[in-house]
Amino acid sequence: MDDSQLLRYSRHILLPEIGIEGQQSFLDAHVLILGAGGLGSPAAMFLAASGVGTLTLCDDDQVDLTNLQRQLAHRTASIGVAKVESARQTLNAINPEVSINTVQERADEARLTTLAAEADIVLDCSDNFPTRYALNRVCAATNKPLVSGAATRFDGQVSVFDFRRPDSPCYNCLYPEDSEAEETRCAVMGVFAPLVGVVGALQAAEALKLVAGVGPSLAGRLLMLDGRGMEWSSLRTARNPACPVCGQAHGLPK
Ligand SMILES: [Zn+2]
Repeated sequence: MDDSQLLRYSRHILLPEIGIEGQQSFLDAHVLILGAGGLGSPAAMFLAASGVGTLTLCDDDQVDLTNLQRQLAHRTASIGVAKVESARQTLNAINPEVSINTVQERADEARLTTLAAEADIVLDCSDNFPTRYALNRVCAATNKPLVSGAATRFDGQVSVFDFRRPDSPCYNCLYPEDSEAEETRCAVMGVFAPLVGVVGALQAAEALKLVAGVGPSLAGRLLMLDGRGMEWSSLRTARNPACPVCGQAHGLPK
């Protein structure tokens, strides 16, 4: 790190849990963020500000007027622009040292596998179940930790599915794909703007902790926020041995 980097990252370097070594691990890290919307904005902005060396943003959408209430990486002047491009400009303005890869497509599972294989950590900042299940399978196949976030109405949740660990459950253990989970998308249900900031920031925090090896991650815990009464709760979650994605029959480390 040069003098300007030592200054830029000094408030991280001062933390005994991070220090020079931890900050260097951020500079060397590559994080894949799926979704450049409400969760992806604060997640990417904190990771860029923190000096994560490479960010890959994947989103096929364009900035729309209805996004601007909560998707902080986008500006009014960016309406109609690809979200990944709009976000890239914001992130470059925050920290020009970060290398930003943009993927403006609705990536299928094969494409996601390629993107995940190149990254150290994957953030699920998407807003729909098919993508969540696909990304969970992809991270199982590539053995990458998945930091999962969701926010609808006033309800947020965050967890880490760490496929490198034999005790960590996956998204499919918590929400089996064949169950009739209710899909609550922002477009239909609405979402309280600061909630996505809270959840996206937590995803960035978990990603940085995983990179620098700080503290226990949220692997095996589902953290939930009820934003009406601002009540936090968490529940312990276990790997389902019969899970079709991460169960023992599927070749993951035991
Ligand atoms: Zn599982």
